[in-house]
Amino acid sequence: MSIAVTVVGAGVSGLTTAISLAERGLAPQVIAASPAEKSTSGAAGAIWYPYEAVPMELVTWWSLITYGRLLALYREENSGVSLVELRTFSRNDAIEVPAWAEAVGHRMLSEWPSPYRSGFAITAPLMDTPVYLAFLRHHLLSLGGTLHEARLERLEEAEGDVIVNCTGIGARSLVPDPGVEALRGQVALVEPIALPYALVCDDDPLTYIIPRSRDCVLGGVNERSMIETADPAVTTKIVEECTRVSGQTFTLREARVGLRPFRASGVRVERGTLADGRPVVHNYGHGGSGFTLSWGCAQKAVELVLSAQVSS
Ligand SMILES: Cc1cc2nc3c(=O)[nH]c(=O)nc-3n(C[C@H](O)[C@H](O)[C@H](O)COP(=O)(O)OP(=O)(O)OC[C@H]3O[C@@H](n4cnc5c(N)ncnc54)[C@H](O)[C@@H]3O)c2cc1C
Repeated sequence: MSIAVTVVGAGVSGLTTAISLAERGLAPQVIAASPAEKSTSGAAGAIWYPYEAVPMELVTWWSLITYGRLLALYREENSGVSLVELRTFSRNDAIEVPAWAEAVGHRMLSEWPSPYRSGFAITAPLMDTPVYLAFLRHHLLSLGGTLHEARLERLEEAEGDVIVNCTGIGARSLVPDPGVEALRGQVALVEPIALPYALVCDDDPLTYIIPRSRDCVLGGVNERSMIETADPAVTTKIVEECTRVSGQTFTLREARVGLRPFRASGVRVERGTLADGRPVVHNYGHGGSGFTLSWGCAQKAVELVLSAQVSS
C-alpha cells in the first residue's frame, strides 16, 4: 500500500527530495511558507562547491552523488545547469586540495591574480538559480507532486503518513533545533561579465565571482547573524574586492542576503518520531552547500522514508 508523504519546505532541499520521492512512485505534497526564491535558496550562486557543511566525509559523499546528477541535468534542455571552470585561490603558498576536488579531477594552477599565491581548478556544475529552481518545481509537478503555501507552527500540523522536514533555517524553531545557526551571506548581483571562469577564495575576506548567463554573482559575507537586510557599505566592499582581484568592471543591479542553515553537529538527514507518533525524516542543516549536497541528501532521505514505510 502506498503512503502519503508530505515534504515541508520548497527550497532546493525540499524540491529535490520531493522529486526523488516522486521518482520512486511516492508523489508527495510539498507545503512551504514561501517559494524557494524567497528562501535562502534564492540568494545562492549557485555553484557546486562544498562549503560550510560538516561532517566532511559525508559531505564529500553526498556532493559527489549530486555532481553525477547535475552532469545528467546539464544535458537536459532548460534545466539551468551549465558547466564552468571554477578556480579556487588561496593567499597561502600551498593551497590544500580537498578530497572532493581530487575526486572530480582537479588541476593545479601555476598563475593567479594578486594577492593570491596558489590555486587549483575543477570543472563545476553551475545552477542558474531562478531557472534551476523553476525547472525543479516544473519537474516535480510533471511527476505528480503538488505544491501548497502554508506556514506551520509545529511539524505535527502537516498531514500525511510520513513527514519530511526540509525547512532550512526554519528548523531552528520548527523542530525545534537550536543547533541550527544562521551564517549570513550577502551578495551583489551585477550585470553579466565576460570572465571565462568562476573564482573562489575562501580565506578571509571570502571572495567569489560567479559569472552567469544573465548576471554575475559577487560575494561574499559569512557571519553569525540573522539580519536579513543588505548593508550597502558591505555591498560596496564586495564589489571593490572583486574588482581588485579580477580587474573587471562591475555594474551593480542589487544586493541580496541569505541565511545559510549551518549545523555544527552535522547536516541532519535522519529519521525521528513526531509527538503524535508519526515518522519524520529530517533533511536540513546544509550550511553553504545546499545545492551541492541536494541530490545526495535527497537520496538518503528517500531511503529513510522507504524504510519508515516498511516498518509502519
Ligand atoms: C549568499 C549565499 C550563497 C550561497 N551559495 C551557494 C552555492 O554557490 N552553492 C551551494 O551549494 N550552496 C550555496 N549556498 C547555500 C544554500 O543556499 C543553502 O544551503 C540552501 O539554499 C538551503 O536550502 P534549503 O532548501 O535547505 O533551505 P531554504 O532554501 O531556506 O528553504 C526552506 C524552505 O522551508 C520553508 N519553511 C521554513 N520554515 C517553515 C515553516 N515553519 N512552515 C512552512 N515552511 C517553512 C521555507 O518557506 C522554504 O520554502 C549559499 C547561501 C547563501 C546565503
